[in-house]
Formats: sequence, C-alpha cells, structure tokens
Amino acid sequence: MFSDLGLAEPVLQALKDEDYVSPTPIQAQSIPVTMEGRDLLGIAQTGTGKTAAFALPILNHLINNPKALTPKAARILVLAPTRELAVQIADGFKAYGRHVKFRGALLLGGVGQGPQVSKLAGGVDVLVATPGRLLDLFGQGHLRLAQTEIVVLDEADRMLDMGFIVPVRKIVAALPKNRQTLFFSATMPPEVEKLARDILHNPAKVEVTPPATTVERIDQKLFYVEQPHKPALLTEILQDPSMNRVIVFTRTKHGANKVVETLEKAGIEASAIHGNKSQNARQAALNGFKAGKLRVLVATDIASRGIDVDNVTHVVNYELPDVADTYVHRIGRTARAGATGIALSFCAVDERALLKDIEKLTRLSLDLIHDHRYVSDVPANAPVRNDQRPQRGKPQQRGRGGSSDRRQGHGGRRAA
Ligand code: AMP
Repeated sequence: MFSDLGLAEPVLQALKDEDYVSPTPIQAQSIPVTMEGRDLLGIAQTGTGKTAAFALPILNHLINNPKALTPKAARILVLAPTRELAVQIADGFKAYGRHVKFRGALLLGGVGQGPQVSKLAGGVDVLVATPGRLLDLFGQGHLRLAQTEIVVLDEADRMLDMGFIVPVRKIVAALPKNRQTLFFSATMPPEVEKLARDILHNPAKVEVTPPATTVERIDQKLFYVEQPHKPALLTEILQDPSMNRVIVFTRTKHGANKVVETLEKAGIEASAIHGNKSQNARQAALNGFKAGKLRVLVATDIASRGIDVDNVTHVVNYELPDVADTYVHRIGRTARAGATGIALSFCAVDERALLKDIEKLTRLSLDLIHDHRYVSDVPANAPVRNDQRPQRGKPQQRGRGGSSDRRQGHGGRRAA
C-alpha cells in the first residue's frame, strides 16, 4: 500500500485521484531508499511506473523541506534524453503534485528559449530538461546548478545512444557534491555502467521485470514479407477495425515519412513523429493519438521513447530493430499497466538475423502468420501446424523455393 511508505498526505491524495491502488515493484523498492536520501541505481524500462518511483519521493521532499527559491536555480533537476519523455515526466510531476505547491519548468530544444529563460529567472523547484538545451542555457548564464539538491537521470542508456553522455557529464560536474542522484536505465551497457559508477555514491540498486516477462503478455505475430510488399501488407492489415490505436515502428525518419504517405494514399489517417519534425508537430500528433483522433502513429525508436499512451491495441514492427532490446521497448507500448496487446512484426529475408536475436532475448518464438497474400520466404525449418491453411480465394505469392507446407504457420511456441 502507498500509505505504508510514509508519503505525505497531498501525495497520497494525488495517488487516490489517479486510482493507483498499490505501488508497482520499482516504486515499492525505490521509494523507501530514496526517501532516506540515498543514491539510487534503478534498472527499469518505461512502463514499469518509474516516473512515479522518483517523482513521489521528490514531491515528498519538497513538502517536508520548504525553501525559498534562488533566482536562476533549480532545487530538483530531471534529465531526459528525448523531448517526448521530458514532456511526459513534467506531466507526471503535475499529476502527482497536483496538491503540492511547487514551481516547475520544462526546458526543451527545438522551441524558442525566451519563455524558458524567463521561467528560470525566479528559480524553480523542479526543472525537467533535455541535456542539450539545459547546457546551452547554463552556458549562457541563465541557470545555476550549484544549489541543486536532487538530480534524476532518466533512460541513461538512451542518453548514450543519442550522444548525450558528454553533456550529461558536464552538467553533473556543475552540480554540488552533496546532492542526491537517482539514475535510471533499462539496460546497462559498459559506458552507462561507468557513468553510473562515476556519478553515484554508494547507491541502492533496484532492478525490476526482466524484459522477457513483460513481453509474455503480448500476442506476438510474425509476417514473412519482402521489403517492397510491406506497404501493401500494412495497408491490408489495417483494414481490420479492431486495430484502432496503432503504433508503426520504422528504423529511419525517411522510412516513417514513406509509411505515412502510403497510408494517406490508402485513405488511412496517419502521422509521423521523429526528430526532424518540430516540437509542435510532434506534440500535435501525439495529442491527436492520445485523444483517439489519430488512428495510426508512425514512429522511429528514438522519438518514441517515453511515449506513454494507454490502450494502444497494436504495435507494428514495419522494420525490425537493429537491437533486440528495442523490440521489447517497442512492443511494450501495447501492454501498459498490466494490459495485454498485440505486436505484428514484418520480417524480410535480410532481417532474419535480427529476428533470431529477438527470439533469443525474449525466449519466445513469434507466432507465424502465413495466410496473407504477400507471404514470402518462410524458412525451411519453421514448424508446421495443419489447422492453419492459407485463406481461400486470395492470391498468394509462393515462398521462395518452398513447398506449400513450408508456408504453413505454427502457434506461438517456446524456443528450444
Ligand atoms: P512509467 O513507467 O512511469 O512511464 O509509467 C507507466 C504507466 O503506469 C503510466 O501510465 C502510469 O500512469 C502508470 N502507473 C504508474 N504507477 C502506477 C501504479 N502504482 N498503479 C497503476 N498505474 C501506475
């Protein structure tokens, strides 16, 4: 129960408003140690409730330690790798802190800095920022970091992917030594491990939900289809009205734009979010999607990190990701807060090795769907299930050199 954690009444009230009944595992483990003032190393992915895991004890700290604001200073600093994640964290603070009096600010790249500078002038309690813009404003003398009490580094592994490790180190170097540091990462590649070692002081380590257990709730289907047929297959499967809130993942921004064009030509409303879009365009697409006005959101991995939309019915991996971990992050969008969901993956022949990595990581074999007209290239060793015959009356391309038996599907199976 949240009430056992010793959180102040205004925080507990907000949790009641949110209808949160009990803490998630990351919250149950990290809130007590954070409230003791210890540094934290939290290994958890988005979707586990990690925003509240740090926001709740921070709000509690602000309630119990009221202080006048210092001009240009931030009492709490939260660093996030993407604009979307930063917006989401700021929204989390607003929701969980709706009964707490605090001043918050959000610093993002890609928008004018004037309003951000004025917001900082009087000082803030909670500053949520992406590293680039923060460092810019710090360099220009609009921000002081020497009084910051708590710093949160969210999605450190993604910071690494996006080339933010050096900016993060610079920012941390400007913070006081006696601060409290909360560090979150879904994975711990060596460089992230080193960063954690360098900036954390005797941290409590909390690790939750290895990816493979999260993905078991998701119905994962696989389509063998060659690259040139992917647009048509996507358009076709989207005829299914049960696909009413869909995220389609592509590897590149260019790919995302092409998918949107294809869908629009087919009369399916879709919008892309990726780093080349203005902050306003991305936010508008995301808001439309959240509100149920936009059925299909097309995203690249970086832009999608931290997107928190409930009731996503389907995730489509239009292209398989280069890193198997990313597959788990992607499909996790459809199984928020305990829900189940469906993930559809398109695999061309040159993506076979990526599929293998995914099946190895998740320890699952995806459920092969063969009864579509663009089926191709089913590997010879794919198990056969006789109750799944190709649909009658639909033209099908023959699998490359495969007998029709080879094109039979199989149920979800555990990999050996
Ligand atoms: P996060 O990992 O912070 O992105 O949170 C994932 C989702 O879980 C968000 O939609 C939160 O609103 C929701 N959530 C967080 N904590 C809880 C909780 N204790 N009970 C129910 N839902 C929660």
